[in-house]
Amino acid sequence: TTVLAIETSCDETAVAIVKNREVCSSVVTSQIPVHRQYGGVVPEVASRQHLEIINQAIAQAMDESLMDWGQIDGIAATCAPGLVGALLVGLTAAKTLAMVYEKRFLGVHHLEGHIYATYLAQPNIDPPFLSLLVSGGHTSLIYVKDCGIYETLGTTRDDAAGEAFDKVARLLKLGYPGGPVIDKLAQTGDPQAFTLPEGKISLSGGGYHPYDASFSGLKTAVLRLVQNLEKDGEELPIADIAASFQETIAKALTKRAIACAGDHSLKTIAVGGGVAANSGLRKHLQTAAAKHNFQVLFPPLKFCTDNAAMIGCAAADHLSRGHTSPFTLGVHSRLPLTKVMELYGK
Ligand code: ATP
Ligand code: MG
Ligand code: FE
Repeated sequence: TTVLAIETSCDETAVAIVKNREVCSSVVTSQIPVHRQYGGVVPEVASRQHLEIINQAIAQAMDESLMDWGQIDGIAATCAPGLVGALLVGLTAAKTLAMVYEKRFLGVHHLEGHIYATYLAQPNIDPPFLSLLVSGGHTSLIYVKDCGIYETLGTTRDDAAGEAFDKVARLLKLGYPGGPVIDKLAQTGDPQAFTLPEGKISLSGGGYHPYDASFSGLKTAVLRLVQNLEKDGEELPIADIAASFQETIAKALTKRAIACAGDHSLKTIAVGGGVAANSGLRKHLQTAAAKHNFQVLFPPLKFCTDNAAMIGCAAADHLSRGHTSPFTLGVHSRLPLTKVMELYGK
């Protein structure tokens, strides 16, 4: 099953051609330089940028795949969750292509795409497994049961992991996006320099929630630390702060993922989303997984952050099972993963 997929949920305009779990072409145009001057993604600017480059991205993806339209079985686009105006550009382009070339049409849930990024490098993996999804907007532990069948077991109560990286980078005046800069700086810092709170969630009956986390307290703790150091007139040990922050968040995520996999007898943890690129998280998870005899999988770096290949991989699986969406399908800024099958009228 071969699909042309479009991803425009945030600030990447991406188009890919995917044959089952094989990427035939993948075009990703990032708007980061455009949004950097504002310190974050501006929704209206994102929609306009998508509109300006989408047609060229589609043409380029077709060219690079060396395929013709006759070889394409379906056209897919991310329809939720994300920025409504941005999603609309991709979804409308996909509907138009499907109508013009008489192809089947599918809307895809962005987070299901992040889960499917795992298969692009590991085509022989199949459910069940645990997905640790750590991105700019989400931090979730998801029990992957089958195509379209998911149960969220843990989540963040406030800031997502990627959001925490971005906010801490902003308060350290490191620019946007923060994850890659902090990751690089952390390599030269001492991860034990400062002790920061890992964001435990208290349970009413006592003890702590084993899988949930809160990262806004961690961000505030970094802010206090910076304010105190600045008050003392010291030069900020930025690398040490970055390393300590990264260490704390990597350990918190690792602890929750390992506990969750163990409790549910899942032997494989597949990480996805932009923060899956983080070297600290990779190191901690790999070490812990080896100790507990789990298999841990990370997508290649280019498929951790937003791309259309992961969307195409999910769409190809749905299409091979006969799932298609009606042309009346709209976009949703939020949509729980449990509602994925509703996109296909199920
Ligand atoms: P969502 O998928 O939840 O809608 P998103 O699509 O914006 O959000 P992604 O593109 O998956 O998120 O990931 C972007 C996030 O990943 C940003 O917050 C960025 O700072 C973070 N990130 C990227 N590389 C790294 C890294 N090496 N270390 C930590 N964080 C990183
Ligand atoms: Mg992005
Ligand atoms: Fe994403």
